[in-house]
Amino acid sequence: MFLSCITYRVISVILPKIAEMEQPDTVTLLREVNNRLREQRNGSAEPTRFICECGDPDCQRTVLLTPRAFDARRRAGRDGIVAHAS
Ligand SMILES: [Zn+2]
Repeated sequence: MFLSCITYRVISVILPKIAEMEQPDTVTLLREVNNRLREQRNGSAEPTRFICECGDPDCQRTVLLTPRAFDARRRAGRDGIVAHAS
């Protein structure tokens, strides 16, 4: 499923957090992964590939965003970081 496109390093970082959740939904997990990817880019202006947060288990798309653009999308809100029209 969606974990196939995530590096082991990222998974190892988020696993403790996920273990604390009771049956987290896919979108929540994806957001958590993207937030971790974003934190690793603190101080950088380089674009990073974030994982589409549409929640479709088969979606393998990514969204290329700079940290600044990522923050703007997060602030904008409710639709999250999605690579395509739903
Ligand atoms: Zn998607």
